[in-house]
Amino acid sequence: MPYQSIQQLLKTAPVGTVVTVKGWVRTKRESKNAVFIALNDGSTINTIQAVAQPDQLSDDLLRLITTGACLSVTGELVESQGSGQAVELKISDVLVYGPADPDKYPLQPKRHSLEFLREIAHLRPRTNTFSAILRVRHALAFAVHKYFNDNGFYYLNTPIITASDAEGAGEMFRVTTLDATKPPLTEEGKVDYSQDFFGRETNLTVSGQLEGELGAMALGKIYTFGPTFRAENSNTTRHLAEFWMIEPEMAFHELEDNMALAEDFVKTVIRYALDNCADDLAFLDNRLKEEEKTKKKEEQSELSLLEKLRFVVDNEFQKLTYTDAIEILLNSKPAKKGQFQYEVSWGVDLQSEHERYLVEKHFKKPVILTNYPRAIKAFYMKQDDEPATNDRGQVFGPTVRAMDVLFPGIGEIIGGSQREDNYDKLVARMEEVGIEPDALWWYLDTRRFGSAPHAGFGLGFERLVLFVTGMGNIRDVIPFPRAPKQAEF
Ligand code: ATP
Ligand code: MG
Ligand code: MG
Ligand code: MG
Repeated sequence: MPYQSIQQLLKTAPVGTVVTVKGWVRTKRESKNAVFIALNDGSTINTIQAVAQPDQLSDDLLRLITTGACLSVTGELVESQGSGQAVELKISDVLVYGPADPDKYPLQPKRHSLEFLREIAHLRPRTNTFSAILRVRHALAFAVHKYFNDNGFYYLNTPIITASDAEGAGEMFRVTTLDATKPPLTEEGKVDYSQDFFGRETNLTVSGQLEGELGAMALGKIYTFGPTFRAENSNTTRHLAEFWMIEPEMAFHELEDNMALAEDFVKTVIRYALDNCADDLAFLDNRLKEEEKTKKKEEQSELSLLEKLRFVVDNEFQKLTYTDAIEILLNSKPAKKGQFQYEVSWGVDLQSEHERYLVEKHFKKPVILTNYPRAIKAFYMKQDDEPATNDRGQVFGPTVRAMDVLFPGIGEIIGGSQREDNYDKLVARMEEVGIEPDALWWYLDTRRFGSAPHAGFGLGFERLVLFVTGMGNIRDVIPFPRAPKQAEF
């Protein structure tokens, strides 16, 4: 039989047979009657306890068995005497693959701060918290592909290097083939960027959407799931310089279909995690409960992590227009008491504090906001025919068929829209915002030839993982975070 991980072994638990378990020592405990070694191999949050008689292992060997050392342990699997675990290993043989000097190994059996663990991002997956997060992240990624495959979508890979900068979603990283130590200079003595990417100016993609639209206008329903780059220079807990974005794009879908799909999609993948990551989510739930206890009573969350996830999966999201949301915000306590950092009025882009007020204080559930002002959204969003009005008949500016999905603790998790499918309107809008239509001739071809109503959205994968794991900082839900001052490992 091929080697089985601890996760596989605990599933079948063949009591009475001799098995070999390989993994890293979490703890070693010595008593008069026995030596207990807790081993974990990352396949599960659970450890397997290996037990030896005190005189069975030599002093030299015992000295090497310390937290972090990697061992191969062979023995009979027996029913556990102690509580907590059903089985344990009666050691017959121990091999030390690699010791870990206890004076130097940075991970000790105690709770380390997340800040400290970020500094040793190369080792933190060996902790319970991070291995749990990474396994949940894996399950969510699998659920994403499964959802789209089950619903007739095709997985489309869009380019990472691109000359298109039309999205305007954020600051871009430039791609260059230049030798930075001696870059060619122009006659004015400036760096000659015309040599970037074989003579073209190119960037790392900020979104696969425009290419995704090309896919939808040929295959019907597609999705992308790939790395996305934004030179975000603010140090927030919700932004990374490199993150993974999921972008479905669907022909023959309007805004309402887009909203329904987004809601069904996030609920389905969260449900998948609830059904398939029970041990890891229970661990993260407990971790959070302990953290909550250290907070002041009024700052403690009403729902536990698992309750929050079940609530999202079981309840309909609140839907309302941007204009109605502004009315609510203007009439809110924080607005009246001047407690928002950013002032609210029709036309402003909502800040995370406003989004979180709507979700956490007002509706107490996820919210889908629609029909945003045209001026604060990208050029490709379908224009509404009538300007926005409130129920007192006040008329505001033009809007687009945009939607943002807002989640508790996070704010925006999804941004999407129905796309402008009218060639003339699209070109006029591009000219208005200063985008050269010729530069996007390939994109405009989808409107020139066989245009169709279509819609799509982008979900930042790490924001989803952040929500599902209950973590507070996006740098803690990606194995190797890329952010200002964090690029080495
Ligand atoms: P925000 O308002 O939070 O900056 P955005 O409106 O700039 O987000 P979009 O261009 O709408 O973001 O991108 C779609 C989704 O990608 C967002 O809803 C969010 O989930 C995610 N996202 C955007 N920027 C980042 C980032 N820097 N790091 C991680 N996820 C991001
Ligand atoms: Mg942004
Ligand atoms: Mg936004
Ligand atoms: Mg957005």
